[in-house]
Amino acid sequence: MEKKLGIYICSGCEIGKSIDMAALEKVGSVSGEHLCRTHAKLCLAESVQNIQEDIKKEHLEGVIVAACSPRFFTKEFSFNQLTERVNLRELVAWSHEAKDADTNMLAEDSLRMGLAKMKSILSPTPFIPDQSSSEILVIGGGISGITASIEAAKAGYKTILVEKNKLGGWSNHLHKQLPMHPPFDYLEKPLISQKIHDVKTQEKVEIHENSSIKEISGQPGEFRVVIKQEEKETKRKVASVVLATGWNPYDAEKLTEFGYGQNPNIITNLDFEKMAKAGPVLKPSDGEVPKQVLFIQCAGSRDKNHLPYCSNYCCGTSLKQALYIRESSKETSVFIVYKDIRTAGKLEAFYEKVQHDDQVFMTKGEIGQLNLQGDRILVDVHQTLLGDNIQLEVDLIVLAIGMTPQNTEDLNLKYRLGKGLPELKYEFADSHFICFPYESRRTGIYAAGSVRSPMDISSSMEDACGAMLKAIQCAEATKRGEAVHPRSGDLSHPEIYFSRCTDCKRCTEECPFGTYDENEKGTPIPNPSRCRRCGICMGACPERVISFEDFNVNAISEMIKAVEIPDEFEEKPRILAFVCENDAYPAFDMAGQKRLKYSPHVRIIPVRCLGSVNNIWISDALSKGFDGILQIGCKPGDDYQCHFINGSDLTEKRGENIQEVLEKMMLENERIKTVFVEINEYDKIPRIIDDYVEEIELIGPNPFKDM
Ligand code: SF4
Ligand code: SF4
Repeated sequence: MEKKLGIYICSGCEIGKSIDMAALEKVGSVSGEHLCRTHAKLCLAESVQNIQEDIKKEHLEGVIVAACSPRFFTKEFSFNQLTERVNLRELVAWSHEAKDADTNMLAEDSLRMGLAKMKSILSPTPFIPDQSSSEILVIGGGISGITASIEAAKAGYKTILVEKNKLGGWSNHLHKQLPMHPPFDYLEKPLISQKIHDVKTQEKVEIHENSSIKEISGQPGEFRVVIKQEEKETKRKVASVVLATGWNPYDAEKLTEFGYGQNPNIITNLDFEKMAKAGPVLKPSDGEVPKQVLFIQCAGSRDKNHLPYCSNYCCGTSLKQALYIRESSKETSVFIVYKDIRTAGKLEAFYEKVQHDDQVFMTKGEIGQLNLQGDRILVDVHQTLLGDNIQLEVDLIVLAIGMTPQNTEDLNLKYRLGKGLPELKYEFADSHFICFPYESRRTGIYAAGSVRSPMDISSSMEDACGAMLKAIQCAEATKRGEAVHPRSGDLSHPEIYFSRCTDCKRCTEECPFGTYDENEKGTPIPNPSRCRRCGICMGACPERVISFEDFNVNAISEMIKAVEIPDEFEEKPRILAFVCENDAYPAFDMAGQKRLKYSPHVRIIPVRCLGSVNNIWISDALSKGFDGILQIGCKPGDDYQCHFINGSDLTEKRGENIQEVLEKMMLENERIKTVFVEINEYDKIPRIIDDYVEEIELIGPNPFKDM
């Protein structure tokens, strides 16, 4: 039996001035079962109140709000009932000619599509793990891991901190620390000992030193962790994980151009720091105080032969180490040769302080030949600012070497996709660095600190707080059965109708988040709280047996079928656009807000990700008589602006199957087109739409139109 719906059409925000409201109401009233009302301003508190009263009085089983974009007034139009939003404002009234026949047709089709979808969806029933844990695992006991654990404990969450050696990490070697407090121009005592003390005295932190992770299985809310210390194994259940395993120094042995390994007086900044902590800075060759010390910045960093990136910490470190020398030996001069000095934020004050020392000489330059003459080292420097060549004579060289990330395989994940996190360029741990930096492709596992990106102590501490907040959000969201970012709060999750599953493994292979494990036959085993609700598996499944209660193959097919297609003599082409709700849909909204006009012949279906588009929708649309199909999504690529990582890439890969659909139907390739836009490219929307409509008009109507 059909659900009884309440259909609420808003005439405010110029909708009423643009669209024939009486005709629209007729569409809404087509079934006498439903309630259809028009309001002058639906977002007013009293209008919302009226809807709530109707839901109770009229026993409504669903509500359609035909008004502004679903991206606005989300709170006001959230009823304790299945709700569908029809975007009459941004996608119709604000982007098309007022009171035009084509604009009215667009509005009516939009409402029909909303009604059709409502027939095939249900309010989602959340998946809640049986015994969700609230504890959080932190891997790595350096400054990031310790900070994350302390902050979680302060927020009331128990953490299990696992460190493979002893707490402190690289910070244990620090002699002094760069300024973190006003006026930001003096060196500070390293904070690591205080932090270790703080974490050790936190009741809510369980510490495992000299331990490793043997295995992590399960899913957010119920990750099962095996911690190994020598022969002893400890088992814990945690809700989420912060990976803070940090970095390794770049292998200085590879820096032969700077003479490393050929003279004991050529050392790394790490060797230097350890020496300064242990006692006075002396030349390793003879234990004498050095007279001239050269710091070579970017030694192997920002260099395509070594590390192409900036490690973010080494400029500050060399300035700090220059002061160690000046404080311990007034006669020693310091030279710093740099590509650029990068002291972001308030560290600039410290940089200025070091500049004022008349025995610290800094120059922008490139290191040329090194002549290792016994105790004296002659270094050719090409000064890139002045264009001069100079030669420095020094007796100690410190190489400011960069950071490389720790391998994430130590997570030992029991996922079919592998033991570690996927790696980004330069082997740093997975992170969607454009929109949500701590998120990895393994839901519930958040990367923090220099395993994610090169960074100094102060940034690592901030990063640890950000990642821990994400881990806490995940723990809480999972307990409510809600998705985490980017579909935060979504209660739906995919369900498989197993009796028709052919074990083809398409879903297990295409899910970017490793939601599905599989049994020996290849049948998917879902872990619903790993799922980010993108729908990519639904788009992939050739048997169409994966569905969400509120977003499924049938519902979208019904929307497609609900559009009224004019016959070929009316010369009104119809284009169907699958628009990704992450970047492309907001771009359409913004185009509407800017009152940019485009062809009214396009019918838009928002999708969670282009990867969720199932080929059956394409053949349904073409069989129905749509003349062309546009797929508009986020940009694919290494920087994975696609919110679901590879949804847009998959659309391109699945293109071959789509071509088969076209060939079978003997239709032109141009009838399907994929376009990628960024969220701020709203100004491109009219051109994308109008050019495609023109292209389709040139090809002519779809021959299936009148069948
Ligand atoms: S593909 Fe997307 S919707 Fe499907 S299981 Fe994976 S994360 Fe969930
Ligand atoms: S894609 Fe569909 S048919 Fe293939 S394994 Fe997954 S659920 Fe089964």
